Amino acid sequence: MKRINSLLLLLCSISMLSFGQFKLPDLSYKYNALEPYIDSTTMHIHHDLHHATYVNNLNKTLEKYPELYKKDLLELIQNINELPTDIQLAVRNNGGGVWNHSFFWKIMAAPGTAPMSAAMTKLLTDNFGTVDAFKAEFEKAAVGRFGSGWAWLIKEPSGKLRIISTPNQDNPLMSSAEIKGKPILTLDVWEHAYYLKYQNKRAAYAKAFWNVVNWTEVERLTGN
Ligand code: MN
Repeated sequence: MKRINSLLLLLCSISMLSFGQFKLPDLSYKYNALEPYIDSTTMHIHHDLHHATYVNNLNKTLEKYPELYKKDLLELIQNINELPTDIQLAVRNNGGGVWNHSFFWKIMAAPGTAPMSAAMTKLLTDNFGTVDAFKAEFEKAAVGRFGSGWAWLIKEPSGKLRIISTPNQDNPLMSSAEIKGKPILTLDVWEHAYYLKYQNKRAAYAKAFWNVVNWTEVERLTGN
């Protein structure tokens, strides 16, 4: 009986530890899938260490308010101003870090596997004049973001596509965002995303990014 009790206690503590906490999602492709544009070592460090740290820190932040583990991450970051004030900044930074990286992995694919369709080409042309003009404006947002942050293609409530950038781990879904919209495409411009391969050449990294965009997923996101 004593043994069964200890076993139950152990099972209980294991389930309490993992219940509802946020988890690091797996990549849907291999770490070397984006080579040679984004190297395998960068992907390992970026996903297994940086992204994982945001997940761990978000879970630690919510320890004081375990009922928040039950919330959807999107719901948390869209309503940061409604959270207890002592965790708002940590949720903004770490919850943003978790959401942004999970999104970033999904809008990339192995080179040549998810090319831009004619419909997507038309959509970008309608919004930005030409695909090249769209790319140039996006690269400018990526390079022009001072310090660390993200470049975004968003869909505004009006349906119009727009390019913006955000600092740190902010994103256009947050209640604090200056310009809000639905994320369609993003590029992580923190140094940890490119420094091993591109060193200080953020512009070269932004240009190489076009080779690994998952246009199938991006187009799907423009639709709803
Ligand atoms: Mn990152």
